[in-house]
Amino acid sequence: MGLKVSREKDFSYLIEDGHSIARVIGTENIINQAMGTEAITQLLNMAELPGKIGIPIGLPDIHQGYGFPIGSVIAFDSDNGIVSPGGVGYDINCGVALMNTGMDKKTCRLHIKDILKEIFNQVPVGMARSRNKLSRRDIEAITSEGIQWLYFRDMATEDDINKTDYNGSIFGAEPANISEKAYSRGMNFFGTLGSGNHFIELQFADQIINSEISEEFGIHKDMVYVMIHTGSRGLGHQVATDYIQKIRDLDHNKRLKDAQLSYMELSSRDAERYISAMNGAANYGFANRQMIISLIRNALKKVMGNEFVEDESELVYNISHNIAAFEENDIEGRRQKVLVHRKGATRALPPESTSGYYAGIGHPVIVPGSMGTASYVLRGVGGNSKISFSTSCHGAGRVLGRKMAKEKLSPELIEKELEALKIEMKFASTSALTEEAPESYKNIDEIYNSIVGGKIAEGIARLKPIGVIKG
Ligand code: 5GP
Ligand code: MN
Ligand code: MN
Repeated sequence: MGLKVSREKDFSYLIEDGHSIARVIGTENIINQAMGTEAITQLLNMAELPGKIGIPIGLPDIHQGYGFPIGSVIAFDSDNGIVSPGGVGYDINCGVALMNTGMDKKTCRLHIKDILKEIFNQVPVGMARSRNKLSRRDIEAITSEGIQWLYFRDMATEDDINKTDYNGSIFGAEPANISEKAYSRGMNFFGTLGSGNHFIELQFADQIINSEISEEFGIHKDMVYVMIHTGSRGLGHQVATDYIQKIRDLDHNKRLKDAQLSYMELSSRDAERYISAMNGAANYGFANRQMIISLIRNALKKVMGNEFVEDESELVYNISHNIAAFEENDIEGRRQKVLVHRKGATRALPPESTSGYYAGIGHPVIVPGSMGTASYVLRGVGGNSKISFSTSCHGAGRVLGRKMAKEKLSPELIEKELEALKIEMKFASTSALTEEAPESYKNIDEIYNSIVGGKIAEGIARLKPIGVIKG
């Protein structure tokens, strides 16, 4: 049977192939774009995994990934369900942080060249390694402590901890379940940005959508923010690689339609090991972003001198978009514990479910667009647990694969385009220019409209780029 698409309600569509069903959030145009791509096949394959609760959900930024599409969510019963490394992704706890600079747009434009240059000096990007290599013991401590480790060394404030997803430290990491190879990769690259899609961007708040909440988030019109996108570098990648290899030959995995969906039953020792290693990699990911935050604060201090007030470089939020976590959810009138896999997807807890610093307000949901377009800050809305397990999209999502982008786009034209938009650039390699061109991504405004229209999140502020650093 071919695929059947039916409109559930505005911005929400059900896709069926005869025996599986999935939901995709988006405009009609986004659904049409996605139909016929491998991402939809992958989303329907997810529905066949054992112990799933509800149906798999594709977010508007959905595109093909390893086994599971990027921009997807799926939940499993905590007793009879499974965990799959492909549902988390290779870059465990990839995510974004957004930080105040205390600078207005005008001041920032005046100094943007120097600021980018100094950040580029302080933060290793592209293939570059950490400047001060940490020991095996330190890296191990980071995998169990997350950003706490930096707090005790004056590289994270209490406020940073309060404004990080899971407080930047996930309980239940087991360093012994992370391989030596993962540690050695982690030692070389702690506090580094990486390449390709990872970036550091200076942005100004160009539109305040909800003034009361943007005030709570510390986002003010025409003030400048730094957005940081990176993850757990080689350490997380190696954890994913190790466990994917380890479970490949399990009988149930050999029978799968797509081997990339390989999984472990949650009741197994392997699952326990993977989850504890994934949590360790997630802690490393939080700490990696925090380390970069700390380096950027140093860079701003150096360039701006007395004009830079440290207290004003407060974090807005540091959020994960590649992670699996146990959560309680109301399912068919019953409170149930589930393991939610978010791959290229961000938690968007509504105000009433948010705890800690943003309790009763709802934590910031950060949705980057591309280096030439807007990015958005939103917050979750009540009732979204029933639509997407309180999950939002994590970006615009690719429309062109990396190879296609290289073939279709010219680096010179992209450079001109960004120049015309007055966006300052600093790249470690020119391949990022085409691969990461705005044309390689979906239209962020349409993604934003989908999430808002789909009643997953509401808009708080829109940000526009002033300068960007790419690996
Ligand atoms: P991913 O985690 O899937 O690699 O990327 C997350 C999202 O970041 C992408 O879907 C894209 O929308 C966005 N993005 C990629 N590069 C840039 C950039 O240079 N600047 C901004 N603001 N967003 C970007
Ligand atoms: Mn990543
Ligand atoms: Mn990412």
